[in-house]
Amino acid sequence: MKPRYLVLALVILLGLAPLVLPSFQVTLLNYIGLYTLVVLGLVLLTGVGGMTSFGQAAFVGLGAYTSAYLTTTEQLPGWLAWAGSSPWLALLIGILLTASVALLLGALTLKLSGHYLPLGTIAWGISLYYLFGTLDGLGGQSGVPDLPPITLFGLALDKGNKIFYLIWALLLLAILITQNLLNSREGRAIRALKGGQVMAESMGVNTFRSKMVIFLIAALFAALSGWLYAHTQRFVNPTPFGLHMGIDYLFMALIGGVGSVWGALLGAGILTMLKQWLQDWLPALLGSQGNYEIIVFGLLIVLLMQRAPGGLWPILVRLVPARHRPRTQAPAADARPGELPRRELPEKGTLILEAREVTRRFGGLVANDRMNLSVHAGEILALIGPNGAGKSTMFNQLSGVDVPSDGEVRFLGEKINGVPSRRIARMGMSRTFQHVKLLPTMSVLENVAIGAHLRGSKGVVPATLHLERAEEADLLNEARRQLDRVGLGDYLYEEAGSLALGQQRILEIARALCADPCLLLLDEPAAGLRHKEKLALAELLRKLRGEGMAILLVEHDMDFVMGLVDRVVVMEFGQKIAEGLPEDIQKNPAVLEAYLGGAE
Ligand code: ADP
Ligand code: MG
Repeated sequence: MKPRYLVLALVILLGLAPLVLPSFQVTLLNYIGLYTLVVLGLVLLTGVGGMTSFGQAAFVGLGAYTSAYLTTTEQLPGWLAWAGSSPWLALLIGILLTASVALLLGALTLKLSGHYLPLGTIAWGISLYYLFGTLDGLGGQSGVPDLPPITLFGLALDKGNKIFYLIWALLLLAILITQNLLNSREGRAIRALKGGQVMAESMGVNTFRSKMVIFLIAALFAALSGWLYAHTQRFVNPTPFGLHMGIDYLFMALIGGVGSVWGALLGAGILTMLKQWLQDWLPALLGSQGNYEIIVFGLLIVLLMQRAPGGLWPILVRLVPARHRPRTQAPAADARPGELPRRELPEKGTLILEAREVTRRFGGLVANDRMNLSVHAGEILALIGPNGAGKSTMFNQLSGVDVPSDGEVRFLGEKINGVPSRRIARMGMSRTFQHVKLLPTMSVLENVAIGAHLRGSKGVVPATLHLERAEEADLLNEARRQLDRVGLGDYLYEEAGSLALGQQRILEIARALCADPCLLLLDEPAAGLRHKEKLALAELLRKLRGEGMAILLVEHDMDFVMGLVDRVVVMEFGQKIAEGLPEDIQKNPAVLEAYLGGAE
């Protein structure tokens, strides 16, 4: 069965549920819907973006309390009075307030890395929770009673089986929006966060912005859930917005599968049903009252993390034959989407990249010592040297990943030390990595499409509404074109991680080419390739050179280098020890000494 029929079946079942189920089960389903909305945000934030947040419950509280305050307070300040007349207007204020708070908290916490980020979310989660209990006018621990019901087209949604439809309609809409976003240019930029920020930034992605986008969306989903919750219960107090609930939301995400949109629904469903069931069942079994379900959950999570760290949804998906799984499709070859505009390459022989006296010190170690080199349009320059000579460090200085301690790097005549690598990428420099950086579970096609990030311009809003189809088709078409060009055209829909290491390197070259660069930096492109693949790669690089591209490569394989490149720069201990034509370098005594005398 196609996925869209499954969704249709789900919608029909949901439509019938309140008509046939007893009311306590409808209530349970309402809770599942409300929880899923929050967990959906966590899927984006944690599963896709790699940022763990314990604080989502606080955003739920923000949405709930804003509406509770506005719709029950008798004497609102004059400028706010209009917002108290309807829960819908209160929702609007709730969204604006949540967005402002999320932008502020995001600016404060998203730059944190490692464990500091989750700790940061705990800190503001707790602060907001206490704020709800202590702020004047919010009713303290006893909360705010008597909220009005939400009305829709004149109909008061004052019963569980009525608001059910609103909850699930908004949830399905949120799922649709999230899916659209993830399958777009912006979505790929967001997913690229997990491939490491260095990779994403050198493909032109503003990683801080991408993080902020998902943090904001997750906060808004939570606030929407809170608003619905408040008007379902018609009562709010601080309890459901504390840290324990923040942890529960994370549990749900982990159980269902934090990397998948439908995993949110699965996780929220399982945890809610199980909790209900265990709460009825365990005290009766053990003969005394208590929250025994907590212990069972703890054990379950530990077991799950050991056996199925990706959660349960991926296990379900694996039961479906690969050809029936949904995938991002390249446009049909005969659809002929418009070709993306191309950069005009500088004339052959133009100076493209120049390093002047570049020095990089790590404490006492001088990894690059007054290095000079230049690359011209239509030329391949090789940077060689024994392990530890400083080649990768030099690459990082040239591509903006690192900043030289001294000296100057000029690209197309502009000084670029200290310029962020995404800006340099926009100027026309594109690179691959010595240790491949790709998204192993994402398709080959989508991985390569990340490289085309800067050639599109459609943002988050058109993406969520799927209004960027034409541009998206062009970008995917470009990705396919580059994959055909490097000889990976038969692997478009494979998972990138399933390719052999050599092919993964070639994939990175296709990704770099997708950016339409004028300078290509390749860090050990031939490592792990078979003989035939090396010949094909050399052929490709010759062709690119013929088109006027400037290429700088770091390489160990001397046979590969010597037959291909125009000039060679040799490094040892951070310094340039020789420079010249390949045939001269091969005879250079200093080079022979460095290579034969060294560890190579
Ligand atoms: P190559 O790529 O030629 O094998 P690298 O540029 O990776 O060499 O490393 C050159 C030297 O700089 C090595 O001694 C390495 O240990 C050191 N080095 C590289 N990066 C760092 C860093 N971030 N901090 C400290 N030392 C570093
Ligand atoms: Mg290296």
